[in-house]
Amino acid sequence: MSACIFCDIVAGKLPSCRLHEDDATLAILDLRQTNAGHVLVLPKVHVVTLDRLPPDMHAPLMVTVVRMTRAVQQCFTPDGVNIWQSNGEGANQEVPHVHWQVFPRWKGDRHFQIYPEKVANTPMADLQRLAARLRPFV
Ligand SMILES: [Zn+2]
Repeated sequence: MSACIFCDIVAGKLPSCRLHEDDATLAILDLRQTNAGHVLVLPKVHVVTLDRLPPDMHAPLMVTVVRMTRAVQQCFTPDGVNIWQSNGEGANQEVPHVHWQVFPRWKGDRHFQIYPEKVANTPMADLQRLAARLRPFV
């Protein structure tokens, strides 16, 4: 066993229910089915967070995320599909191996609310100041 549960799943040391696999990515069913059809998409190499992902991994992962989103949509015809990706403890990333959660949503299922409290619109001048601060890093 390694220190990473997802690396162990990629290596076949832990069981998983595999939906899709290619040279760079793996899609499995999440052990905790938020709603039936909850899928995880991850790179086969160990990378902790999205900002550390090598550029050659960007496209293959997004292709698999889109493929799994289409599969969930076509199989379950839900009211919607969430694509959820968390980085770091502050964002509640539970497994330190970058991954996307793709899961069907139903009106009123109450599993996950991005903004549980109403958030007011930010004035344009404040948005411009935020953009000026962020642009040097883009
Ligand atoms: Zn890992």
